Amino acid sequence: MNAARNVFARVFDALLPRRCALCAARAERGFCGDCRQMLPWIARACEICGAELPAGAPGVCGGCQAEEPPSYDRAVIPFRYCEPVAGQIRLLKYRDQLGHAAALGAMLSLHARRARPPHPDALMPVPLHGKRLRLRGFNQAMEIAKSVGRELGIEVRHRELRRIKNTVPQVGLSHAARRSNVRGAFRASPLRGMHIALVDDVVTSGSTVDAAARALKRAGAETVSVWAVARA
Ligand SMILES: [Zn+2]
Ligand SMILES: [Zn+2]
Repeated sequence: MNAARNVFARVFDALLPRRCALCAARAERGFCGDCRQMLPWIARACEICGAELPAGAPGVCGGCQAEEPPSYDRAVIPFRYCEPVAGQIRLLKYRDQLGHAAALGAMLSLHARRARPPHPDALMPVPLHGKRLRLRGFNQAMEIAKSVGRELGIEVRHRELRRIKNTVPQVGLSHAARRSNVRGAFRASPLRGMHIALVDDVVTSGSTVDAAARALKRAGAETVSVWAVARA
């Protein structure tokens, strides 16, 4: 068992980029120490939706207090969607540079280790519709989930949550249009009593993860967390 684990660890290490994704200095986990400090970390976030809060504000943002709270229970999101993280996500998504998923996933894992949120039973990437997946060839959320799963030893499941509606991209839509665009877009198999962490690259309005979380809850999930790299 130990020998197998060592072989696994060595293979895993070989897969990780050994250089900083930003400055190419030697780095063990995606970014060197100096560049890590320059990343747009969210210092203080809403306990529910992960939105950045000013220093001294209460733990839950005005939106989550006033409006109908989201279908998910809590968010774990290390970064604002700003440079250089935004550029790294674009390279991953649109330039097929999958190595960035390992680096960003390592930072998400580091953040989760520090924040110590309740450990989920499984990670589930927000799925792409089959057509979009064939077009892109990979799901960036899946690549990030695999990295986090390896780092933290959490199982990644991708069969239980499906995207049944091929929605138009959310970019450029109003908040209301985003909500109706993804309504009913997801379906999940039974997940009775489980704590699922939905994994995505960027949370913008939160409509997509909200719709996915609703499908997971409907399928019996007890708790749904959102683990994403950045929040716009
Ligand atoms: Zn660096
Ligand atoms: Zn909030």
